[in-house]
Amino acid sequence: MLHLADFAKRAAVRVDAVHGEDEEARLALGLLVEEGLLVHTVPANLGGAGREGVDAGHVSVRSLCEIRKQLAFASGMLDLMFVEQGLGSYAISLGGKGDWVKPLLAGVMAGEKISAFALTEVGAGSDLNGVATEAKRDGSDWILNGDKTFITNAGIADFYTVLARTGAGEGGRGGLSMFYVAADSPGLSVKRFEVMAPHPIGELTFENVRVSGECMLGDEGQGLELALAVLGRFRTSVAAAAIGFSKRALHESISHLDARQQFGRPLSSFQGLRFDLAEMDIRLRAGELLVEEASELLDQGQEAGTEVARAKWFATESASWICDRAVQHLGGLGVRRGQIVERLYREVRALRIYEGTSEVQKLILAKNLITRHRAGAKNHG
Ligand SMILES: Cc1cc2nc3c(=O)[nH]c(=O)nc-3n(C[C@H](O)[C@H](O)[C@H](O)COP(=O)(O)OP(=O)(O)OC[C@H]3O[C@@H](n4cnc5c(N)ncnc54)[C@H](O)[C@@H]3O)c2cc1C
Repeated sequence: MLHLADFAKRAAVRVDAVHGEDEEARLALGLLVEEGLLVHTVPANLGGAGREGVDAGHVSVRSLCEIRKQLAFASGMLDLMFVEQGLGSYAISLGGKGDWVKPLLAGVMAGEKISAFALTEVGAGSDLNGVATEAKRDGSDWILNGDKTFITNAGIADFYTVLARTGAGEGGRGGLSMFYVAADSPGLSVKRFEVMAPHPIGELTFENVRVSGECMLGDEGQGLELALAVLGRFRTSVAAAAIGFSKRALHESISHLDARQQFGRPLSSFQGLRFDLAEMDIRLRAGELLVEEASELLDQGQEAGTEVARAKWFATESASWICDRAVQHLGGLGVRRGQIVERLYREVRALRIYEGTSEVQKLILAKNLITRHRAGAKNHG
């Protein structure tokens, strides 16, 4: 891990020196490839790294988390480009059929194929049953029409894994399927926008985009299941990234408070600020333990919906609080552009929104608690 921390530190300096979101993203990807890290985004049975004790058909969540913690400590862009290769390609790893799958995933690991995961629409955010992008059969092909928004890597991606409606479903729910769509497919266009921290992102429009039958991932009607399986594997790693950002914020706070003198003594000697540091550390470590618990269960192939929801909620909510305290500790410098804590403050905010908002995590957790309670009451009743 020391080696990884060292790599992340050196790579971050190079990425930070580059101007332009896309340029940063491409350089970050190249550095991740050189370091051999992208093999952790693809399951072992498809040429990825694998890990002892982990089903060869899955990526190791512990590996994803360990890597993301170190990358996020040093650079949000390194972290983002690492995880997106897995998030955007994982539906292919799980449900891709045909000769094209292995070479494509080899391209993902070599950084030659940039991945993106396209679920969200203007009318479908937390509730993916609202997906309206339509895929209609045309002989053995499918024709896609509709729009996606908030798609990370839109514009730089070489392909998208896309959730689209292939049927009415029961009572308006279900009827969704996943597709592999090459970015250069005729009829697919991209419009970029900016979010508060560097992050290649935008909208996609599909106008009669034709894909062959073997681009369907999994079976017809299994798209939501597949999308949730991808999120189930990757969501814990969002919490791990939050831990990485939080650790950096705490590090910056301690360094500043110990160096800065006010009222004739170091700020670190004031009890009020010491209490802050202690609470930052406790929240950080508690989040880290929740991430370890969830990722270990997932790697063992066990059901971990409750543990994942706890970890994602706690680590990402704590990261916002920790980074906010770090900004406060730096005083005016904390809000000055170019300061690390100012960047961290902006960077952690979106973690509470994507891959299931904080409210969605609480809904999952509460549902599981109630189900368990009712099952217990039945068994004892
Ligand atoms: C930086 C960034 C990157 C992203 N990257 C991707 C990507 O690569 N691919 C992709 O498909 N999507 C991506 N997203 C989209 C993201 O997944 C959605 O923004 C998220 O799922 C929330 O959907 P929404 O924005 O439509 O909010 P909504 O679902 O409209 O929710 C709005 C608010 O209402 C709350 N809410 C909703 N339902 C309930 C409920 N039942 N009970 C209580 N509260 C509720 C939410 O928690 C939220 O606070 C990204 C978003 C961001 C910000």
